[in-house]
Amino acid sequence: MTPSAGEGWTAKGSLRVMAIQAQAKLNLGLRVLGRREDGYHLLESLFVPLDLADDLALRLRPARHVRVHLQLHGGPPNLEADDRNLAVRAASAFLAEAELAADVRIELTKRIPVGAGMGGGSSDAGAVLRALAAGHPGAVSADRITELAVSVGADVPYFLDPRPAWVHGIGEVIEPIAGFPALPVIVATPRPPLATAAVFRAWDDRQRGSDAADSAALTPEEPGRSMAPPSALANGIGDRDDRETGTWWRRLLANDLEAVAAGLHSGVARLRTEIERSGARAVGMSGSGPTVFGVFGDAEEARAAAKKIPWEPTDHVHVGRTTGSPERFP
Ligand code: ATP
Repeated sequence: MTPSAGEGWTAKGSLRVMAIQAQAKLNLGLRVLGRREDGYHLLESLFVPLDLADDLALRLRPARHVRVHLQLHGGPPNLEADDRNLAVRAASAFLAEAELAADVRIELTKRIPVGAGMGGGSSDAGAVLRALAAGHPGAVSADRITELAVSVGADVPYFLDPRPAWVHGIGEVIEPIAGFPALPVIVATPRPPLATAAVFRAWDDRQRGSDAADSAALTPEEPGRSMAPPSALANGIGDRDDRETGTWWRRLLANDLEAVAAGLHSGVARLRTEIERSGARAVGMSGSGPTVFGVFGDAEEARAAAKKIPWEPTDHVHVGRTTGSPERFP
């Protein structure tokens, strides 16, 4: 199959080039609802994209054999720059599925902290799949692209089309939420990174312990119960009095993994306390941590709060906004 120029790609002779951004996500709340036989956890979470992104430049040429090459800029020195990198795995999976012999060069500039709970690696993989699919319309069906995405990582399907969405299953069931607003936020990531697998191991250990002792909740908000249905989420913001809104936010942002993540990383509790003190309307932890974020009334409030907080020099601090839904609430 010969590569053809598609949406977003520019052609220079046989070379095709595309620049694409891979946005980070925040989890506005997360529930762990169970564990599958294969070890994957069943989750429920409201995912929103953030205005913090890695930059990717893809260069694609027809070739006799498949070759995917990655050039990394930024990121920690131990970040895999070979075929273990999720961006490379996504490109290889697409080319194999499309039976496309091509030489792909990926230049990846990391800006999203790694091992932070913001899905940086999954987003890079989603962006590569999106770009290659746009460059080869019809080469791989949409359903098959989703399957390829799941095979690279449970969060990757979300990043094929990142927007506010209700995500469940192991991350592959995605229901976009109409009318969800953009939110001014402070997003802070303490060092060192926290491995997602370690957090889920600790979760499983605590869960086993609590089952054995038949003890009560591991989380402040009834564990094991579902979040509000998607239609209620966009409706919930801003149309109640302050006290009710505060309760609504606390319920929404409850993250079942926060207690175990805080047990593994002192930065989680420190940042929660500081961001709460700074006047955030609500504070949550993203994914499996250790990133903690605060939601503010407006951008100026967020900027002023960020100036007051006594950050540690190694904290990665982003003051920005989440991306709202492209559609209005019906
Ligand atoms: P999630 O929120 O999905 O749990 P995360 O933000 O905690 O993810 P990532 O930054 O995506 O974690 O990276 C997790 C691990 O994946 C890293 O420790 C790294 O070894 C590996 N990895 C492979 N490719 C990438 C990539 N392109 N960017 C970041 N990490 C990558």
